Amino acid sequence: MQFIDLKTQYALLKEKIDTNIHKVLDHGQYVMGPEVITLETELAKYTGTKHCISCSSGTDALVMALMAHDIGEGDVVITTPFTFIATAEAIKFVGATPLFIDIDIETFNISPKLIEEALNDISKNKNTIHSKICTDAAKIKAIISVDLFGLPADAVKINKIAKDFGLVVIEDAAQGFGGSIDDNKAGSLADIGCTSFFPAKPLGCYGDGGAIFTDNDDIANKLKSIRVHGQGEDKYQNVRLGLTGRLDTIQAAVLLPKLEVFDSEIEQRQNVAKLYTANLANVDGVTTPTTPDGYVSAWAQYTLMAKDDNHRTAIMDHLKNNNIPVAVYYPIPLHEQKVFESLGYNPGDFSVSSNAAKRVFSLPMHPYLETKDIETICDLIGTL
Ligand SMILES: *Cc1c(COP(=O)(O)O)cnc(C)c1O
Repeated sequence: MQFIDLKTQYALLKEKIDTNIHKVLDHGQYVMGPEVITLETELAKYTGTKHCISCSSGTDALVMALMAHDIGEGDVVITTPFTFIATAEAIKFVGATPLFIDIDIETFNISPKLIEEALNDISKNKNTIHSKICTDAAKIKAIISVDLFGLPADAVKINKIAKDFGLVVIEDAAQGFGGSIDDNKAGSLADIGCTSFFPAKPLGCYGDGGAIFTDNDDIANKLKSIRVHGQGEDKYQNVRLGLTGRLDTIQAAVLLPKLEVFDSEIEQRQNVAKLYTANLANVDGVTTPTTPDGYVSAWAQYTLMAKDDNHRTAIMDHLKNNNIPVAVYYPIPLHEQKVFESLGYNPGDFSVSSNAAKRVFSLPMHPYLETKDIETICDLIGTL
């Protein structure tokens, strides 16, 4: 059994993918070729945003989104400590400082209530754990919300708070792409959305890739410039610092046929998740994931919680002994990572994230997972 089965998908799409790759080899426009432009048009249509700017990775998408808003040295960006390293890495990479806010245990996503409390406390110069990062509310420029495990963060509440405090919201939809809230697609839920086409993500290519979504014309133009070394009107005129941030044409050629079946794959992921949840409903001490009303998760991961870390180890060992692949996303919250030691956080500062890190584990999840495999996995967990 595969944790994420990319081979079955390739077998189904082989003809189209192979033909598309060969088209690129024949026309030879390996960089910014016609497939890239077509993909951007299709992705903008898919998310309902005005602009899609494809790029080199999900991490670069976040870096470029921050750069396009002139966020850097001296600025503070709010985000969750319970995410993949890239979210906070991008903040630090542009020279800004991450200010972590704890999550809601039901969704594993950043808590809007705690964001609002923190912003109010900082505005009133209250002494809290946030004081070690920031005592001047004017320095806070943005919120990066993360659609963890595929479930969109609470965009409605987060956008409202951001508006009240004059902050930009960047949606990290690397895992959420394909998900939605009330039919509004992940990637389009904030001022700017970033996603990743890393192979294991819900929509993955055969290497590294990413995309950025926005309705803002100025930001879109700035992103296109940042993508190519801060290029100006003329190719050899450079007006700002930028990156080598482009998506390869071959990766766009791989993504086009995958995008055609993406919605039906998201549908199949719903079925897999429903079967897991139904089969695990009566298992003692195991908490299955919740999806709030109106939300669709892209199910990048099916993540559940054991009672505590010993219980998790027992379940995971039992599954591994029966050749079922399992993983922990994420065992160490970001405020406890060595790279962020200098921020001065203590391990106990975000108790919900730390508690989740000790209890979460993820089961095999992909659109082609068979019912009998799901039942086998659930039986193994149930009979432990
Ligand atoms: C994968 C991921 C990224 C980074 O994407 P890459 O394409 O690997 O650079 C960023 N944020 C989250 C939440 C991710 O899961």
